[in-house]
Amino acid sequence: MHANLEALEAVIGAAGQFEQIWCLGDLVGYGPDPNACVALLRRHSHVAVLGNHDGVACGKRSPAGFNPHAARAAQWTARHLTAASRRYLRALPDSAVASDFTLVHGSPRAPTDEYLFGAREAEANFAHFATSHCLVGHTHVPAAFLSVEGRRGNDVHGVGLRPDEPLPLLGRVRMILNPGSVGQPRDGDPRAAFGIYDAGRNEFCAHRVAYDVAATQEKMKSAGLPAPLIDRIAVGF
Ligand SMILES: [Zn+2]
Repeated sequence: MHANLEALEAVIGAAGQFEQIWCLGDLVGYGPDPNACVALLRRHSHVAVLGNHDGVACGKRSPAGFNPHAARAAQWTARHLTAASRRYLRALPDSAVASDFTLVHGSPRAPTDEYLFGAREAEANFAHFATSHCLVGHTHVPAAFLSVEGRRGNDVHGVGLRPDEPLPLLGRVRMILNPGSVGQPRDGDPRAAFGIYDAGRNEFCAHRVAYDVAATQEKMKSAGLPAPLIDRIAVGF
């Protein structure tokens, strides 16, 4: 979500009827509306896990490793969190299970830290969760990694996760899925990214929805957040 209220509202509006929101961490950081985003999420039935930015903002983790802009935004967020938001973030677990999915921010073996960009990193992670499938965020890039049972062990490969193309969740194929980022897409498409798991059809589908980027940028400007962070949400990088 990255504290981007306009993007979160657009996603909730576009999702139609749903039972529950599964939030893969980084509720806050970068964006100008950390408290409003936490509050909006909490108004819905939801499961959420801790992201690295959440950890820094609520004082659970150090900002070591953050680039200067991310660190500045994290300090801004820490200063502006209400006590209720901070308490809520501090209580978030590193991982959670919902239905037949494990939810983590980064990866099953390093929940708040590892980036799963490629099939090789994904492959090493299938042994680290017990459910059929796993949902991750952290890279901000939509992706699907499939582990297919073969005669000589499992074959893991990545497949494209394109908007509005449902991916059937089949019995013997385990998947690690990344729906992309609501509040800060980084795949060159500035629209907010999310995914819907349809339990009835047993399929997962990625979606994109446009939101009022200029409104978010205005708020970031007024808040004094770093200019490169303001510019990047317009291009989705
Ligand atoms: Zn993030």
